[in-house]
Amino acid sequence: MGLCAARQLQKNGEKVLVLEARDRVGGRTYTLKDADHGAIDLGGAYVGPTQNRVYRICKELDLKLYNIDENNYTVMDLRSCWAKFKGSMPPFWNPFKVLDINHFIRTFDIMAKQVPCEAPWAAKKAKQWDSMTVAQFIDKILWTQSAKEYAGIFMKALFCAELSEISLLGALWYFNCGGGVLRLISITNGAQEKKVEGGTQQISEGLAKLVGDYVKLSSPAVYIKYDDHTVIVKDSHGNVYEARYVISSVPPPLLNRIEFDPPLPWERLQLMQKMPMGSIIKTVMYYKTQFWKKLDLNGIALSSDSVCCCCIDDTKPNGGHPAIMGFILADRAREMAAATPLVRKEALCAHYAWVFGTDDFLHPVDYREYNWMADQYSGGCYSSVMPPNVITKYG
Ligand SMILES: Cc1cc2nc3c(=O)[nH]c(=O)nc-3n(C[C@H](O)[C@H](O)[C@H](O)COP(=O)(O)OP(=O)(O)OC[C@H]3O[C@@H](n4cnc5c(N)ncnc54)[C@H](O)[C@@H]3O)c2cc1C
Repeated sequence: MGLCAARQLQKNGEKVLVLEARDRVGGRTYTLKDADHGAIDLGGAYVGPTQNRVYRICKELDLKLYNIDENNYTVMDLRSCWAKFKGSMPPFWNPFKVLDINHFIRTFDIMAKQVPCEAPWAAKKAKQWDSMTVAQFIDKILWTQSAKEYAGIFMKALFCAELSEISLLGALWYFNCGGGVLRLISITNGAQEKKVEGGTQQISEGLAKLVGDYVKLSSPAVYIKYDDHTVIVKDSHGNVYEARYVISSVPPPLLNRIEFDPPLPWERLQLMQKMPMGSIIKTVMYYKTQFWKKLDLNGIALSSDSVCCCCIDDTKPNGGHPAIMGFILADRAREMAAATPLVRKEALCAHYAWVFGTDDFLHPVDYREYNWMADQYSGGCYSSVMPPNVITKYG
């Protein structure tokens, strides 16, 4: 976001300087340039309809996108059942379960539309919805165990948090801004539709090239002094910069690490303490072949109670480097962060073997992972999670 702002201002004839804390641009998009497997997206990766600005920049930078292949069967593993299906909606044999999940999605979308993207606190029922967690709402509105578990999977996969940690109002807001439930959970015609060939970090790298010498890496801002005319910014090396304006694009909770003079308003200081980042370890498991295709499986599995809530085929678009990308999320991420990479790798392989029904998944050729919770310049991912009673109290 920072580089986009800089590029836009530069286009309008303004002088800019981007201070980047890391020794690389890209932030929460991170494409590992791996000696064995080429570009591996260990951060933000998927792009879909409604992300028009991302599409525009990709076009400007001549980056190619490719579709995630969801032909063949997706697998769903709930405590109450196991099923394989095509598309986004699981085919419960029990009509009550089908009605239940359809009712949930419809109701959620109708409620979400009542939460304005630019002012979620202004929704008519903001207070009521903000005092409730997503877990409480799911328990209240859904009748069947399978539908509860299925709804729980996509909520956890989207927020990287336990359902009891998420404000219902916050979730409704997110879904409204993202175009509704089906848009956000789907692959085809949804948020997981495409990836960037060669990795998403190229977006920031391309923008940084355009901004030119005005991007300073390894320069964390630590102090900002401002008045009506001037802003003075200091980085951690003691370098001092003067500007007319500052745009902060750091993840909101991390802004609290920067000293402001005069201090930021108390509401802002409190808000930044109350919107924690999600908890996630992103993993990619490599195999010799895409053997799951021969079994009519697409490499996508949704699980309500396992180490990996959601996994997707991450084979390169030319069919090279067969791989499964898996998210370890929320409580599971916090538990598994204490283990070694080998333990996580073995737990994932055992899960894939069970959920896809073949022991071939027990024999990977390689494994890569990234623990975003341990990254001091993100503090977690994908983004901030709104706990109950924050949006309506702090706006
Ligand atoms: C595993 C994972 C999966 C994701 N999946 C998706 C997805 O599929 N689709 C999608 O759209 N999004 C996804 N996201 C989210 C997406 O990556 C982020 O929303 C997006 O990259 C945020 O961009 P940003 O510029 O706002 O923030 P950031 O990328 O966080 O950029 C902020 C920058 O500020 C820097 N910084 C921090 N503190 C300071 C300081 N004091 N001084 C100077 N610089 C500082 C950081 O180093 C960073 O470069 C995912 C994220 C992760 C980690």
